[in-house]
Amino acid sequence: MSVGTTRPDLPGLPETVPARMLNEFVYCPRLFHLEWVQQQFATSDDVEEGLYLHRVVDRETGDLPDKSEAWNGRVARSVSLSSPRLGLATRLDLVEDGGDGTVVPVDYKKGHPNKDGGAWPSDRVQSLVQALLLREEGYAVERAEIWYAETRQRVHITVDYAALQEVTEIVTRAWQVAADPSAPPPLRDSPKCALCSLVGICLPDELDALQTPPKQRRPLKRLMAPILEGRPVYVTLQGAVVGVRSDRLEVRLSGELKASYRLIDVSQVCVFGNVTVSAQAVRSLLSRDIPVLWFSYGGWFSGIAEGLPGKNVDLRIAQFRASEQQQLEIARRMISGKIRNSRTMLRRNARGEMSRVGEQLKQLAIQAMQAESSQQLLGIEGTAARLYFGSFPAMVGKNSRVDVSDFQENGRTRRPPKDPLNAVLSFCYTLLVKDLTVTLMGIGFDPYYGMFHRPRFGRPALALDLAEEFRSLVAESVVLQVLNNGEVGPQDFQSRGGGCMLEASGRKAVLRAYERRLDQEITHPQFGYKASYRRVMDIQARMLGAVVLGELDDYTAMVTR
Ligand code: SF4
Repeated sequence: MSVGTTRPDLPGLPETVPARMLNEFVYCPRLFHLEWVQQQFATSDDVEEGLYLHRVVDRETGDLPDKSEAWNGRVARSVSLSSPRLGLATRLDLVEDGGDGTVVPVDYKKGHPNKDGGAWPSDRVQSLVQALLLREEGYAVERAEIWYAETRQRVHITVDYAALQEVTEIVTRAWQVAADPSAPPPLRDSPKCALCSLVGICLPDELDALQTPPKQRRPLKRLMAPILEGRPVYVTLQGAVVGVRSDRLEVRLSGELKASYRLIDVSQVCVFGNVTVSAQAVRSLLSRDIPVLWFSYGGWFSGIAEGLPGKNVDLRIAQFRASEQQQLEIARRMISGKIRNSRTMLRRNARGEMSRVGEQLKQLAIQAMQAESSQQLLGIEGTAARLYFGSFPAMVGKNSRVDVSDFQENGRTRRPPKDPLNAVLSFCYTLLVKDLTVTLMGIGFDPYYGMFHRPRFGRPALALDLAEEFRSLVAESVVLQVLNNGEVGPQDFQSRGGGCMLEASGRKAVLRAYERRLDQEITHPQFGYKASYRRVMDIQARMLGAVVLGELDDYTAMVTR
């Protein structure tokens, strides 16, 4: 029999598919596509445990004995085999002498057999591929075995014509899926998803919910996305040097240790002004997928270093190929969502009569959904922003130690912000856009090519797009918190050259409040489970990816009630 003809002859396809990816294919074809074609990985306790188990069998102890030699009870460990003819590759944990002129591949699994005491279908296929490749090398193989570590049991698999024929068909289907740039749809209501390491990337329940009309939608039990480990480290100490030593990030000033963090607790390193990050630290951080972000002393986001760009090239292709109509549709929803969130913000926090502004904002949110061009949308957004910021000072309470009367006069000003309120607003928007840039890059988007904001002057247009719906929810909420709780005062600002900027003390207070806000849990309006803003931002970016890739019809902005 031959499976060599099953590999589609398309440029760009690898020569061989690894057997462990066929294992994923049998578990879920979408998982196979996400992992192998899109190269998206997520680690989990299960994955780490599997790697730990494999440390025993991964110790390579020589090649397979020659077919002409007697094995005499010999074993070979960690043997790599591949066949371009079959389009398959594998690494065998162990090959044993079968005792009757045959050899037996043994695969190590950390779990347990199925409830009948047999091998799981995905494990079985992986073993059969190993048998197939051993046969291709000329060895006689009549059975394979899987050792399940949890129950310390060996399970036998018969290697006969029917079994190999079955594998042939699976391999054929797997190659077809690999050749398709679109991933297969997620499984629906499958218990497999709860055990899948990519559930936080795939978000099957969330995609399913958004395809169900809101009235028929049931709240999801819980968010299965993995907890985004780690927190950003902000280094604002001028003259400091950031280094890495013994898996810890260290901040030193004139050689003296000022702060130290375990690298596993760090998600990004943000440095402000005159702070040096050693070359060795940059390398070490990038190798762990921890980006380094540079800001000017005043908090202007000026650059980012991250590891290799996201490997999800199909997403980037889809992003650049999105039609003008699709871009406008997404932008309408984002801007309408932004206006509705501004309105809610005023309704909840403003003192005084706001019903007129509230009604005007409501109408503008409706108009945004009907905008016929991005120019028109821009106009609607501008009108809404003027109305909203005209009422913004009404949300600043009497406990604020910062005088906002200059804002009433200036309105919203940028580059430079002209008064303290504008300075805090600008800084919070910078932080928000920075986080969305990192999130989008991590997923595989190009953050510089937007749907609403045009790409120019190196600004992260897509991050600015996604920031729209989070401006009130995250950034402006932080601004009101630091003002109304008295967390910043007049001494935290400095006026210079017609502009106003936050002093280091003020930046620290705002950074603390901003991180607090990102950790705050809310009930997700669409899905009904609790999630922090940090995770909601990640989910929104992934949903945007699903729309661009055609897995979801419409984008739904994050709007709170
Ligand atoms: S979460 Fe479910 S649908 Fe998504 S890849 Fe994993 S098993 Fe497949």
